[in-house]
Amino acid sequence: MRIMPGAMLGVLGGGQLGRMFVMAAQQIGYRVTVLDPASDSPAGRVADDFICADYADQAALEKLSSQCAAITTEFENIPAKSLRTLAKSCVVSPDAYSVSIAQNRIAEKQFLGINGFAVAPFAVIQQQSDIATQDVADLLPGILKVSQFGYDGKGQKAVADEAELLVAYAQLNHPVCVLEKFMPLKNEISVVVARGYDGELKTFPVSENHHVNGILDISIVPARISQQLAQQAQNVACQIVKNLSYQGVLCVEFFVLQDDELLINEIAPRPHNSGHYSINACITSQFEQQVRTLCGLPLGETAQHSAAVMVNLLGDLWQHGEPDWNLVLQHASAKLHLYGKTAARSGRKMGHYTVLGENVDTVLQEAIHIKNALNTIESNAHDKSIRLV
Ligand code: ADP
Ligand code: MG
Repeated sequence: MRIMPGAMLGVLGGGQLGRMFVMAAQQIGYRVTVLDPASDSPAGRVADDFICADYADQAALEKLSSQCAAITTEFENIPAKSLRTLAKSCVVSPDAYSVSIAQNRIAEKQFLGINGFAVAPFAVIQQQSDIATQDVADLLPGILKVSQFGYDGKGQKAVADEAELLVAYAQLNHPVCVLEKFMPLKNEISVVVARGYDGELKTFPVSENHHVNGILDISIVPARISQQLAQQAQNVACQIVKNLSYQGVLCVEFFVLQDDELLINEIAPRPHNSGHYSINACITSQFEQQVRTLCGLPLGETAQHSAAVMVNLLGDLWQHGEPDWNLVLQHASAKLHLYGKTAARSGRKMGHYTVLGENVDTVLQEAIHIKNALNTIESNAHDKSIRLV
């Protein structure tokens, strides 16, 4: 059944991914209700209606499902139970099963392993004594990651040896964790894939991702990898959504090892930061694709019409006030996206810009030029403030 423009859609979560979903849906003519526990949120500000409530609030979930034709989520930490409740009376995608797998690193790795996808060697640490009883030596140096609620490098610590592992586990307050072997990476790439209600599949071009302190810094698209490797990553992404019987948009993050072997890092049951370039560089954006999968529409064409480099704008840039946006806006092929967040905290994603062009190497140079200019202004301001003191 197709849900047509004019209908009210719902989204759980009021962050920037929700905001970009709302904008894409409204552009086509849908209305959107956002549910988020925070009274002021990026998506809540642009929504047609806003419900301020916890994700497990039964009355709020009832209100949402009664006024929406279909509901999606913008992040994976929604209680799977809430999605099941909503699904009793409303179209919901992605489904509770897929979200429950993606929100837990252990369930995720087990699902991937059972389905024959390679992941980095790991061990599950349920309690401190597991560190002594499991043979962790082969996994060191490694990265200790909490099994749930980690994002943007939060809830993980690099550990060189067993002594550091014990300290890190205590610092994280002894939650259920996975210890992953630290992999020598040649590259990191990701693929956003969409699967429609009738099983129709479309992948977006492969993004090459560079992280700083575990947070995505830059995405370069198309990724500077072989055609063969790009095809392989897209095939894996398609296979994952098929195996999950997934309906919606999903992102697969990959590690590329030195010999071009692909490992899956993690999956996200939603559009992804590394897919933001698609808003400006593809015929259909990842957010329009999310609308299309949710409403039972045919999937949009994902072909890329311009090479693109996306740069994240983190709260650190605001240290000395609002950055000078002329540095981005004066560039005729740069697209600025700010999420409307009021508090600029260090490491917080406040916005991004995407530079477009014909050649990915030239576009990368231009994107870095803008990045350096923004950062130079920031450090000049810093110098000045020191002199003023
Ligand atoms: P998050 O959920 O915060 O995105 P990830 O597990 O994707 O956490 O880790 C964030 C980043 O840290 C990765 O994109 C990668 O750059 C680095 N990283 C994570 N695990 C490993 C690993 N096992 N080996 C090497 N680098 C890693
Ligand atoms: Mg990640």
